Amino acid sequence: MNTNTHPNPLVNARIAVLGYGSQGRAHALNLHDSGLDVVVGLRPNGPTWPQAVADGLRVVEPAEAVRGADLVAVLTPDMVQPTLYSESIEPNLKPGAALLFAHGFNIHFKQIKPRADIDVIMVAPKGPGALVRSEYQRGRGVPCIWAVHQDVSGEAEAKTKAYADGIGGGRAMLIATDFKEETETDLFGEQAVLCGGASELVLKGFETLVEAGYQPEIAYYEVMHELKLIVDLFYEGGLSKMLQFVSETAQYGDFVSGPRIIDAATKVRMKEVLGEIQDGTFARNWIAEYKAGLPNYQRLKQADLEHPIEQVGAKLRARMPWLQPQITEAAASPLKKAG
Ligand code: NAD
Ligand code: MG
Repeated sequence: MNTNTHPNPLVNARIAVLGYGSQGRAHALNLHDSGLDVVVGLRPNGPTWPQAVADGLRVVEPAEAVRGADLVAVLTPDMVQPTLYSESIEPNLKPGAALLFAHGFNIHFKQIKPRADIDVIMVAPKGPGALVRSEYQRGRGVPCIWAVHQDVSGEAEAKTKAYADGIGGGRAMLIATDFKEETETDLFGEQAVLCGGASELVLKGFETLVEAGYQPEIAYYEVMHELKLIVDLFYEGGLSKMLQFVSETAQYGDFVSGPRIIDAATKVRMKEVLGEIQDGTFARNWIAEYKAGLPNYQRLKQADLEHPIEQVGAKLRARMPWLQPQITEAAASPLKKAG
């Protein structure tokens, strides 16, 4: 629901959602259920076309979806967005329309140089698409951060908030940001703490125990499996809840050993990683890697997939029947982008 007193600029507008993956499906269905006019733009031979049709949405090719749209939500993978923009969006988007992103990468790092006669805005839900959808269906919403990069119509902010309302974010919380802050903090979080930091912490812990002669199965439980318990406590109630629910021995060990593992030198390296995000080094390297056909990405990914923790983990998880239903759910809501 639009809660402000100004007219909702999306009420008689056509919204094109390009991409029907984690975010695209959730946004398109929520906007549609909010009574807005939604068309989905996809490649005819793409994997998600049949799903969007089965969900009851109108699906056309991206260029056709953009023609006549008042707002175009770009929800394809970030690395395909520049080509999609130059081939399908730029030649077809009408003046004064809005171009919306869920992540600022391509605008902030100038991989897309948007036409001067359109609004450029962002609504980034702070959760995976499956949660954006399921919370909406329960009458609630996932908090969103929002930003205006370019305001030509004079209504860019109102459009942004109307879109955030339409996907349910307005029912929860909207936080203003800008493309630079969203992009840099998102990249830093996934590199230093979430995907990069957490996975390396687990691997180094696993290796330490196994090299000391402990059984890999026991090591797996201690450093990977039980991480979920701790992360759930963080998620629900921060450090306070974690400290409340672990033993006094675990708390004392946390206080005296944690800062020896992650120390001031780690923070210096975190600042280096942040510096390379801020000065564009990371983006330049990643774009070059993508354009070269992902040679290093494939090699590094293979090394992760072949780590001994993956063999022992697969064997142990096969004996955790409670995980089986969640596997399909996780496949439908990938945290492909953690932030
Ligand atoms: P995704 O990989 O889940 O889905 C991508 C969709 O785009 C699929 O429908 C795919 O078939 C389609 N697609 C791929 N190439 C295409 C092309 N050339 N033309 C048209 N369609 C094409 O993507 P996602 O994870 O939902 O990410 C979309 C955007 O949302 C990204 O900008 C991402 O950074 C951002 N985001 C994602 C999350 C998340 O939880 N996954 C959270 C916040 C923001
Ligand atoms: Mg890793």
